Amino acid sequence: ALVVRYRIRSSSRWARVAALLKELEERCATPVGKLRQVADAMAVEMHAGLASEGGSKLKMLISYVNNLPTGEETGLFYALDLGGTNFRVLRVQLGGKERRVLKQEFEEVSIPPLLMVGGSDELFDFIASALAKFVASEGEDFHLPVGRQREIGFTFSFPVRQTSIASGTLIKWTKGFNIDETVGEDVVAELTRAIERQGLDMRVSALINDTVGTLAGGRYHDNDVVAAVILGTGTNAAYVERAHAIPKWHGLLPKSGEMVINMEWGNFRSSHLPLTDYDQALDNDSLNPSEQIFEKLISGMYLGEILRRVLLRLAKEASLFGENVPPKLEIPFMLRTPVMSAMHHDTSPDLKVVGAKLKDLLGIPSTSLKARKVVVQICDTVARRGARLAAAGVAGILKKVGRESVARTVVAMDGGLYEHYTIFRECLQATFEEMLGAEAAASVVIKLANDGSGIGAALLAASHSQYRELEQS
Ligand code: BGC
Ligand code: MG
Repeated sequence: ALVVRYRIRSSSRWARVAALLKELEERCATPVGKLRQVADAMAVEMHAGLASEGGSKLKMLISYVNNLPTGEETGLFYALDLGGTNFRVLRVQLGGKERRVLKQEFEEVSIPPLLMVGGSDELFDFIASALAKFVASEGEDFHLPVGRQREIGFTFSFPVRQTSIASGTLIKWTKGFNIDETVGEDVVAELTRAIERQGLDMRVSALINDTVGTLAGGRYHDNDVVAAVILGTGTNAAYVERAHAIPKWHGLLPKSGEMVINMEWGNFRSSHLPLTDYDQALDNDSLNPSEQIFEKLISGMYLGEILRRVLLRLAKEASLFGENVPPKLEIPFMLRTPVMSAMHHDTSPDLKVVGAKLKDLLGIPSTSLKARKVVVQICDTVARRGARLAAAGVAGILKKVGRESVARTVVAMDGGLYEHYTIFRECLQATFEEMLGAEAAASVVIKLANDGSGIGAALLAASHSQYRELEQS
């Protein structure tokens, strides 16, 4: 009798699991028709954001970058990259057209999580002190003409309203950062003060978003690069716009006729987006409720957290992991996207990676193969929805810039999600082809530009150097 009772309970439990999975899949569905609507909405919002300040959820920020690298840049330049979980300092000796990057060195430092939600000075002091140490280690093989100040390209990967190529105020923090007192401040002034506190003599020559840096770095190597997308902790895109197609720009028309726009697409929102109850709850509980909705569906900071929320519900309502709900599953951000990716890519017949992660991270001593398969299936649903939406975003940009008659168009991609999450990357590419059709897709190359943003920042520091006139005369 006991056995029979158990079977009945067990079968109704799996029926409940199946029902919840089915519901999730339906809500997350992104048939190509829906993706086209998303791409169209993206293009429409791009127009609106360019028309007037505040005209759209898409801020379409003017970067003040109206000349992308040519290859002629020369000299020693530094770059500093703040935006995700790590920050990076870099120096590069540029050798001009023929010789390009003669030498480069970088260092990566992880940011103590408390600094992301503490005080402004603390964060900038931490960065400036790492920079000072790095500068101190500059070797003989880097050359700075005597009497010159070292210059730096500052990649600051948050929405900034630029007031010039080398200044701009923070509109809001995103991702895991939340430091109220920095909002509305000029982040270059903040950094410069911290650099001075270190007793360091350095000047910020360019303030850029990571997407803009990736675009610049991409263009340095490939002339056909017209847009850049970051898929990492956060997500965003930048592209080259025709200056006269930016009604809200009242400045002089640049000679190049072009202006790089930082879209801040992470804040895109549309009724066509497939939002679930899990997404609503995640948004509510986030540091920035009702902001960055597109980002919360797509980027590395959130995919693992969506998975956790689905698993928690299945554990509670369908006893996915047995009678008890694993306490660690209740902890926000307990499942990070790299773990999700590792489980999703598990090809062993008994899904032993999945089993091991559930055990090590969530303290679930043993799981049935059936339960592990469910976990993989949820990874698949959540990751594919994100990848397909990202593809739709790229399609939206191409629609806006209209490259139909151009032989080759390159979109530079960067970010850990794109780089390391193979299924995500492949799904993005496949979806893109599905949307454009094989023929049109063949003229568009989506290409990994690994840490283009660091080099890009240094290149833009070079082309906006205070010594540039001197250099050219
Ligand atoms: C920020 C963008 C940034 C992107 C990728 C987003 O959260 O708002 O400025 O480009 O993350 O780092
Ligand atoms: Mg980055």
